[in-house]
Amino acid sequence: MPKKADRIDSQALYKSLFDNMLDGLAFGEIVFDAQGSPIDYIYLKVNKNFQALTGLKNVVGKKVTKVIPEIATTNPDWIPAHARVAMTGKPERFEAYVKQASGWFLLSLYSTEKNFFVSVFQNITAQKQIEKNLENAKIAAQNVLADLSGEELKYEGLTKDLEKFKLATDNASDQIVITDPEGITLYINPATERLTGYETKEIMGKKVGTLWGSLMPKEFYQDMWKTIKTDKRIFIGELRNRRKNGELYDAELRISPVLDKKNNVLFFVGIERDVSVEKRLVKEKDEALAKDDAILSSIGDGLVVTDRDGKIILVNQVFESLMGWKKTDAIGRLFTDVIPRQDENGHIIPWSERVLQQVIQGKLALISTLPADDKRIVTIPTSYFIRKDGTKFPVTGVVSPIYLNEKIIGAIELFRDITKEQAIDRAKNEFVSLASHQLRTPPSIIGWYTETLKSGDLGQMNKRQNEYLDEIYKANERMIATINSLLNISRIEMGTFAVSIQKVDIKSVIEETIKELTSRFKRTAEWTKEYGPGVDQPINADPNIMHIIIDNLLSNAFKYGPPENTKIEVTVKFENNSLLVSVKDNGIGIAPKDQGRVFEKLFRADNAVSANPDGTGLGLYMVKKIVVDGLGGKIWFDSKENEGATFCVSLPAEGMKEKPGMTTLTRVQYYQSEL
Ligand code: ADP
Repeated sequence: MPKKADRIDSQALYKSLFDNMLDGLAFGEIVFDAQGSPIDYIYLKVNKNFQALTGLKNVVGKKVTKVIPEIATTNPDWIPAHARVAMTGKPERFEAYVKQASGWFLLSLYSTEKNFFVSVFQNITAQKQIEKNLENAKIAAQNVLADLSGEELKYEGLTKDLEKFKLATDNASDQIVITDPEGITLYINPATERLTGYETKEIMGKKVGTLWGSLMPKEFYQDMWKTIKTDKRIFIGELRNRRKNGELYDAELRISPVLDKKNNVLFFVGIERDVSVEKRLVKEKDEALAKDDAILSSIGDGLVVTDRDGKIILVNQVFESLMGWKKTDAIGRLFTDVIPRQDENGHIIPWSERVLQQVIQGKLALISTLPADDKRIVTIPTSYFIRKDGTKFPVTGVVSPIYLNEKIIGAIELFRDITKEQAIDRAKNEFVSLASHQLRTPPSIIGWYTETLKSGDLGQMNKRQNEYLDEIYKANERMIATINSLLNISRIEMGTFAVSIQKVDIKSVIEETIKELTSRFKRTAEWTKEYGPGVDQPINADPNIMHIIIDNLLSNAFKYGPPENTKIEVTVKFENNSLLVSVKDNGIGIAPKDQGRVFEKLFRADNAVSANPDGTGLGLYMVKKIVVDGLGGKIWFDSKENEGATFCVSLPAEGMKEKPGMTTLTRVQYYQSEL
């Protein structure tokens, strides 16, 4: 029967625990009078140590008032405390001196059953004695001090002061050493043991100098002793010491002589602070600052850091030389006061529209066209910064926010003077423009002659000859288209193209383009068109430019759509004060790695090259230049690889603005090679 065996085992266990416990243990039951008030208790069971600890013998079955007759007088709360615990079940704990047992006890009372209690107790007489000795020592110390100072010190005040002193010295992180006038150690605080590695018993009665000191030149100690002993003044110095384990440390030392009334030295109180860590930190901080400085000054771009309010908190040397502001003058000023920015038409851009301010506000403009990992950097549109002396220079740059605990606390703007790049660009454009003019003549001549041959005026061509002539003609047309694109780009980049406003019906531009594309590509697509309210009203626009924009978006959707079953959705609507054109296709899409580059000049994604070898990578670059720089609009897209792309252009709702210029942009039509 395992149950019984269990019980026997646990009974045996409890018995052995009960008997062998070092604490005294007693079970008892409360005794009540006729009125039901608790007046006594009976010992039911006690362990071996009960007798050893209390000196009380044969108590089981007896009342406590029998065992200790004076208990109610010597410890009036004794019986009531046992009764309270036994009746309420709430444990209690108290210390009491039991005269009959001649000792102090710590009693813990519990109750497991109503009117019964368990009392666990320890004899704490020895501890009490130590406390008493300490108290006596304190009083003795106080008497000594009172004698020394000869002052009438109030008992209470002094005790408190001594306690405070002990607490302070025990917990101080500095070493505190008190010596007699000869330097023999009388007292050390715990920090001294910790910091020097010597134990109290090794230090007491010895001279400190023979332990961790005496590493400094002789003169140092001579001066120290002269100051404290002869001049009886406080000595303050910095020195190097050695811990018991041999480690060296730097310390700040302060020794004060304590004098009696007759000006004799009674003690020296020395306080020593380990400053090795502090010194190392200062050194590391200096080094880090020097490193930061070196990094900042080695950045080739101008750098300015502001706080949330746009106040400059840091600039680098390139900033100083680019802007003509001294670091010390710029720091603390408002960003817009120090770095005014002008757009291409000479208008100052207000603070609210500065990229840095928008970044601080968390409005990250232009961000959608950046690759995913660059999301925190915003590019500044090309414009001009005005120097302190009023001169200006063209800049480009980036702004990125500074985060602390996921909150933007400021921003960093890095900018570069692009005067040289602009000059090179201009030279390049002039070359392209000149070269394209020269290049345009020969293909035109090729075109005429091919057409003449094809017309049959010079004699009928056979079928193969005609096919070859067709190929020559198309290839030539593509060459003309490329040259026209290059010409357009150089005009756009030089800003020399004119915008001539007419009333343009955007719906018919789209319809015409679709028709024209269908014949150019010799295939059709499934077109869905959606025109919002007001779109059928003609708008102010340059028809050529409108065609260039629409043609590029639609022909890309066509080119990069699947050869079979191309589906293209064109939406035109007025929204948020702009005219929004979006073109959605079901084609090859754009891979994430290419998304940041589609508006770059001559960029073509790998999937685009294999889907259609005939592109130039100039179309979107040109459209972006026209839309963003020329017309104040926006262009963006949304795409997933193999899931199609949606390109959107938004223009100001009031349409384009007339702009005089030396040249007009040419409509470019690419002929497809047979795919
Ligand atoms: P391209 O002459 O190569 O079409 P664009 O400047 O018009 O030049 O476009 C640049 C690149 O952007 C293309 O080569 C292609 O990688 C990508 N692209 C443009 N439109 C689309 C589209 N609708 N679908 C997929 N990729 C596109």
